[in-house]
Amino acid sequence: MDARAADAPAACLSCELVAGRRSSPGGVIVEDDYFHVHQDVGVALPGFVIVASRRHYRGWDAMSAQEAASFAVLVPQVRRAQREALGVVEAYYFLQEDTRHHFHLWMLPRLPWMDAFGPAPASLPQVLRHAHERMNTPDHWHAAADAAQRLRLALQAHATNPGALPA
Ligand SMILES: [Zn+2]
Repeated sequence: MDARAADAPAACLSCELVAGRRSSPGGVIVEDDYFHVHQDVGVALPGFVIVASRRHYRGWDAMSAQEAASFAVLVPQVRRAQREALGVVEAYYFLQEDTRHHFHLWMLPRLPWMDAFGPAPASLPQVLRHAHERMNTPDHWHAAADAAQRLRLALQAHATNPGALPA
């Protein structure tokens, strides 16, 4: 365990989320020993999922073998839940290493309304600006929270019925 995680300042948003001192819209989607999965707290885009490391590290190459194995299983499970519970046909993935402390994977749905901003990923700056400026409303945050809850239920359903997962 990274010793810095124990004495991290309260200002570390990911540590606050991981420890449950701050909640994300809809609550935790799924978590394991190494990662915490939640709705993005800055963009009210339903199904915009962040997979954050529990430990403080920023580079993918800093993952332990156990963390890498967990990541490889967890991300497709979350992706499947996006597809089945939210109807997300396509998604973008961004590995963000220029975070303050915590390695992040963005799992960002590509949704039909984004076509107005052109084909992506070139459209994403405009998409995110639109989301920041036009979707930062109670209704959109409610929808984002509802999506997170549906993702959690879908993942729980698979966890209790692992036979439903592909071999
Ligand atoms: Zn932290």
